Amino acid sequence: MRSTVSELLSSDKILQEVYLKGWVRTFRSNRFIAVNDGSTINNIQCVVDFENTDEAILKRISTGAAVAITGTLIESQGKGQKVEIAVTKLEILGDSNADEYPIQPKKHSLEFLRENAHLRIRTNTFSAVMRLRSALSFAVHKYFNENGFYNFHAPLVTGSDAEGAGEMFKVTTFEANKAPLKEDGSIDYSKDFFGKETNLTVSGQLEAETYAMALGKVYTFGPTFRAENSNTTRHLAEFWMIEPEVAFNDLDDNMDLGEDFIKSVISYVLEHCKDDLKFLEDRLLQEEKSKPQAQRSDMPLREKLQFITENNFKRVSYTEAYEILRNCKPNKKKKFQFPITEWGVDLQSEHERFLVEKHFKCPVILFDYPATIKAFYMRLNEDGKTVRAMDILFPGIGEIVGGSQREERLDVLLEKMKALDIDEKELWWYLDTRKFGTAVHSGFGLGFERLVLFVTGMSNIRDVIPFPRTPQNADF
Ligand code: ATP
Ligand code: MN
Repeated sequence: MRSTVSELLSSDKILQEVYLKGWVRTFRSNRFIAVNDGSTINNIQCVVDFENTDEAILKRISTGAAVAITGTLIESQGKGQKVEIAVTKLEILGDSNADEYPIQPKKHSLEFLRENAHLRIRTNTFSAVMRLRSALSFAVHKYFNENGFYNFHAPLVTGSDAEGAGEMFKVTTFEANKAPLKEDGSIDYSKDFFGKETNLTVSGQLEAETYAMALGKVYTFGPTFRAENSNTTRHLAEFWMIEPEVAFNDLDDNMDLGEDFIKSVISYVLEHCKDDLKFLEDRLLQEEKSKPQAQRSDMPLREKLQFITENNFKRVSYTEAYEILRNCKPNKKKKFQFPITEWGVDLQSEHERFLVEKHFKCPVILFDYPATIKAFYMRLNEDGKTVRAMDILFPGIGEIVGGSQREERLDVLLEKMKALDIDEKELWWYLDTRKFGTAVHSGFGLGFERLVLFVTGMSNIRDVIPFPRTPQNADF
């Protein structure tokens, strides 16, 4: 029976015959093969008896080659590993031409690896990141499942624009320049596949709200698309979003849920992904050494994660945060790219990070934002100028969650839509939830890649999704 490297490394089957398949990471001294099969960050050392091995085969053991190995599991003679395999039979399953293989056993830049996204998963760094991504994804479903939520699959093709703004990808079967036109020269979408203008979804929230109003607690976890032309280290054009929506939850319940959820999934990986986290922690420490002192993070990765799970997130109103920011040193010294002037300004990532990293030094939940900078569906407060919004801000990331208590009052919602010129007829189905059994409800959206970014300590969001889609880039 075939064993995985992970099983063998923790096995007590000493002196038994074992069989495994994997890829050669390194081959040195014509004797030691480090084999990895993806089951763990660690390689298993396979020792070849080179005097009794065909020279033609020895020549073919090169980095990247696929091999099948039969041998005896023994206590390791060398240091660095507990067990190793004394090879009795070695079979080359697939050769790898060492001169052409891009993934050499040396340090490659992340930029170079991005251009080889189909092979970068064969490095330690990316295998660790993607195993963690998988574990986090599992932890997300586990959390909601254990807390009485139903998984709801929101449509990806949508006829509505949830945020009431642009930045969407059109979905059409028309060919450019050959689309049928109406008399006034505009494109006649009634002849298009869906008989109307359609887009890729930017959020499953509006649809999820309709489900929460029947199933109580639901969540979506699927791809979302934004055609925003922001070439940052925190934005993708295609990313995965987790969106819980809960009937009868108010904003406080919503903040509790967000905090508990994040702590839970981080605890899960701290417990289940020790080797990968250790590797990424060491990688980060190495990286930090090349940075100027002032930019270095003061906590090792796992300590930083532990800190999140063990401390309360600081809850601060927009107005309080505004006062802090207006009076802070960088603002007075005009160090912010976007100065904090009047109450009501939108907060940029530099402000969010100042609050989290410099001022409070812990995750922050900002709530009660000015209505003018938030979406139409957020519940208006008694003051008439703020809404029951909440954003969760994380060190190194900025906004990781955006959410709100939803406006459940039909008249207030209609007034808001009118003021923003949002077509009532387009959203008739959404408004029905406010007509029939309306109730307080809340939810949020968490960008999955921003969570993976935080947990892995990587610094570019392109490095935590298998095949990133960004402006000018949809390779693979
Ligand atoms: P930001 O201000 O950072 O652009 P946003 O306000 O547009 O985010 P929301 O509309 O509130 O974000 O979306 C909910 C969450 O989805 C965000 O908190 C973030 O974690 C994530 N997110 C938003 N846009 C992107 C993107 N382009 N790429 C990756 N994640 C994103
Ligand atoms: Mn937001």
